[in-house]
Amino acid sequence: MALIVHKYGGTSMGSTERIRNVAKRVAKWVRAGHQLVVVPSAMSGDTNRLLGLAKEISERPSPRELDMIASTGEQVSVGLLSIALQAEGLEAVSYAGWQVPVKTDSSFTKARIESIDDARVRADLAAGKVVVVTGFQGVDPEGHITTLGRGGSDTSAVAIAAAMKAAECLIYTDVDGVYTTDPRVVPDARRLKSISFEEMLEMASLGSKVLQIRSVEFAGKYRVPLRVLSSFTPWDIPLDEEASSGTLISFEEDEKMEQAVVSGIAFTRDEAKITVVGVPDTPGIAYQILGKVAEANIDIDVIIQNVSHDGKTDFSFTVNRNDYARTLELLEAKVVPALGAQKVVGDPKICKVSIVGIGMRSHSGIASTMFRCLAEENINIQMITTSEIKTSVVLDEKYMELAVRALHKAFGLEEPRG
Ligand code: ADP
Ligand code: ASP
Ligand code: MG
Repeated sequence: MALIVHKYGGTSMGSTERIRNVAKRVAKWVRAGHQLVVVPSAMSGDTNRLLGLAKEISERPSPRELDMIASTGEQVSVGLLSIALQAEGLEAVSYAGWQVPVKTDSSFTKARIESIDDARVRADLAAGKVVVVTGFQGVDPEGHITTLGRGGSDTSAVAIAAAMKAAECLIYTDVDGVYTTDPRVVPDARRLKSISFEEMLEMASLGSKVLQIRSVEFAGKYRVPLRVLSSFTPWDIPLDEEASSGTLISFEEDEKMEQAVVSGIAFTRDEAKITVVGVPDTPGIAYQILGKVAEANIDIDVIIQNVSHDGKTDFSFTVNRNDYARTLELLEAKVVPALGAQKVVGDPKICKVSIVGIGMRSHSGIASTMFRCLAEENINIQMITTSEIKTSVVLDEKYMELAVRALHKAFGLEEPRG
């Protein structure tokens, strides 16, 4: 008998019929003798709908109230799933984040889990119940409801698995594992049987929304055995077959992994580019610009400072697209006058495309293959950033799909690895 955490995403919970299906699958695991904590997302579309309602009333709704609203989607899901489990003849109980409690900091809309008190859940499991806990939400030290950022149910599930030292955390979703890139964009993308933790961390941080980045961070920190698999297989497939399907996030040494120089391609439209034009090229400029942005709790990603001409330079960086307007306003009000810069310009229609692979550590020339491939497609690169196991380029967003497909081909990702 093992303690297992299952997480079901929005599409998997998308209708009462699908919820019944989830309940049947969970019941199969319970009948095989396992203790189950189940973490569902809101039904697909619900979180968008709820946030949309708030935006109909105000352009800048208070983050605290947004969390109050958005968290209700998951509350509906846990209740429905518990009822479905009870209809399967199981004992089940649902909890909101604050009831467990899942304790977070107070960064509304992007809170971080600080600790989880598992006593209540353990007592229920010991009493033979299936425990259904809301994904995505928690409670801050003052008792306010918080949410963990979009896609945050993955993180709730892995954090609960870590806190309870579960034998495994299974992330059930609408694809049957982690692919070389998003299979919705590249239909011949290939499923990976396993992916190293480090690569998964990069893929998630660079935009592959199959797992929220914080969930991968938790898995790494607490060594939670983590697998991504499909919730759309027939619920009654043999448990052993199901348990070894999908993609395992592996902590094994590199040589035991599927070997490839580039393992996957990630992309995101979530960023926007900002350039401060005509900044005096003197020490402290980066700090004066980015310091102000950081003080406003805005995360910065790619940064470029150009060579100066006549003592002036241009300074560009990217931020999340949601922070675009706020960043422009802030720079115009506080930074341009203080620095005597010429102006601020922005472009919200960019994308970032990245190649990821631990093999890049030991192989040179990978980035140049990437640049050649993009040049052959006539795609202009606006910014470049690299780390040991990834190279990212910022492009006009209209080239995103073309770039991803061309790179997928250029690195032979559709071919089986030898
Ligand atoms: P859930 O609602 O189950 O959390 P998400 O929509 O958040 O599901 O994540 C699953 C989606 O992630 C897939 O439908 C797929 O389009 C997308 N995706 C992006 N990159 C990848 C990838 N490399 N492998 C698999 N899926 C990916
Ligand atoms: N319901 C939340 C969202 O749509 C959390 C999640 O699905 O993981 O972002
Ligand atoms: Mg998700």
